[in-house]
Amino acid sequence: MSPWHGSVVTPPKPSLRIFTPIEINNERKGYLFFNLDIYEMVDKVEASLETGYQLEFVNEEGYYLASQDKRKTLGHLIAERESYNVLIETPELWQEMRTQNTGEFADKQFFYSFAKVSLGDNFGRSSLYLLLSSENNLATENVDHKLTIIIYEAILAILFVTFISILIARYIAKHRTTSIENQLALAALNGMSAIVITDKNNRIIKVNEEFTSLSGWREEDVIGRTPSMFQSGKHNKDFYSAMWRTIQSEGLWEGEVINQRKDGNLLTEILRIQAIYNNDGKREYFIASFVDITERKELENRLRELSEKDSLTQCWNRRRFEREFSNIIANDSFIKGNESSCLAIIDIDYFKRINDKYGHDVGDKVIAEVGRILGTESRRNDFVARIGGEEFAVILPNTQLQEAEMILNRLRVAINLYDDIKVTISGGVTDICNSRESSYKRADLALYESKASGRNQISCFSSDEMTQIA
Ligand code: GH3
Ligand code: MG
Ligand code: MG
Repeated sequence: MSPWHGSVVTPPKPSLRIFTPIEINNERKGYLFFNLDIYEMVDKVEASLETGYQLEFVNEEGYYLASQDKRKTLGHLIAERESYNVLIETPELWQEMRTQNTGEFADKQFFYSFAKVSLGDNFGRSSLYLLLSSENNLATENVDHKLTIIIYEAILAILFVTFISILIARYIAKHRTTSIENQLALAALNGMSAIVITDKNNRIIKVNEEFTSLSGWREEDVIGRTPSMFQSGKHNKDFYSAMWRTIQSEGLWEGEVINQRKDGNLLTEILRIQAIYNNDGKREYFIASFVDITERKELENRLRELSEKDSLTQCWNRRRFEREFSNIIANDSFIKGNESSCLAIIDIDYFKRINDKYGHDVGDKVIAEVGRILGTESRRNDFVARIGGEEFAVILPNTQLQEAEMILNRLRVAINLYDDIKVTISGGVTDICNSRESSYKRADLALYESKASGRNQISCFSSDEMTQIA
């Protein structure tokens, strides 16, 4: 149990249950037992002060615990504010405050009244000063009178000021804040989805139970780290930079993300990242919430694959080829020069004869075998599809025409050398330019050339030659 009886009331928000004796001038003024709503009290005390007066709370070392000028507060906790200390700012006043329990002090600019308040056993017998100041042009009695009222009004406030400093100290120490629990986050935390809350530097300060049960990561595994630790490697840098650009410009990003669980398995999520702004319009927190769609996604992928695979050859089918070809055209139209991709069309030579001689079933087996060889002999990134009865297409990404021709010849030879089937193939290859139709047409014309000049060969037709002809 903490010495100040300050266990946080549940549900968590900045409110504290307090029981403490109050002493002023070593006289016991009574006891206090109450729940404090800290923020409400701060507002009350500030509102009770008329303009022209400044009430501040100062700790035993001279640092401000509370002040209307919030930039002055908590110099003992925040290094940049170290110089905001009564001892440093007004040494003579501090001298008076240290030697008397109540008193007044005036310098050229300000008139000060102060009172020392002891907080009793429950606060470790610590003391605080109430410091009231005004421009040095008001009648002394008037200030005195107001001071008395304000001091008694402020006694309650003093208690929670102590707690604010404790809470902020805890926040600084642990990178956690109670205010986060008081915001929208609290509502979200009790919701159905998994939640990750990060600070303005995108360091994780809170996760909920649903997050732990979906991802396997417990709060202590992730606090202080950035959500990049969940990356699966399934998205590239551009994906994440686009995501952050959207969050920065719109304060919100929603989409599908594949992350990694603690056990290494993938987790497909519908993710929503929302920026939370403070009163100055600065991003203070990010709240990421997600639902797990891993199973649904796996089913979707299986179904799509089934619908895009050719059942005879296990190559991609015509539909998938059209999609892939469109993607390549869309991407390659931005890329110039050496980076272009190639398209090859392949047709089995004299296939009618095989059907006629051995029957349709054997013909099917030959087609399946040719498809298998094309699949195994091509490179990992090459895309092989069966686009017609005994016709295949190969997309060779980021490949120059010369190299594509060599690869196609390698495929041709592999089929030619295969013992079980005595077939040959012909092929036409071209570099893919930004017109889908003309690219396909060139590959087809090149194939026709191979057929016309005797079959069992590969011909090329580059986009440059096409331009020359036209
Ligand atoms: P070429 O060298 O000019 O290509 O001669 P080809 O006999 O191969 O002529 P073409 O490519 O025009 O004919 C393809 C034949 O393949 C026509 C058709 O009977 C046969 N075929 C098309 N699809 C299938 C299929 O799925 N299974 C089987 N067994 N035969 C097919
Ligand atoms: Mg054909
Ligand atoms: Mg043929």
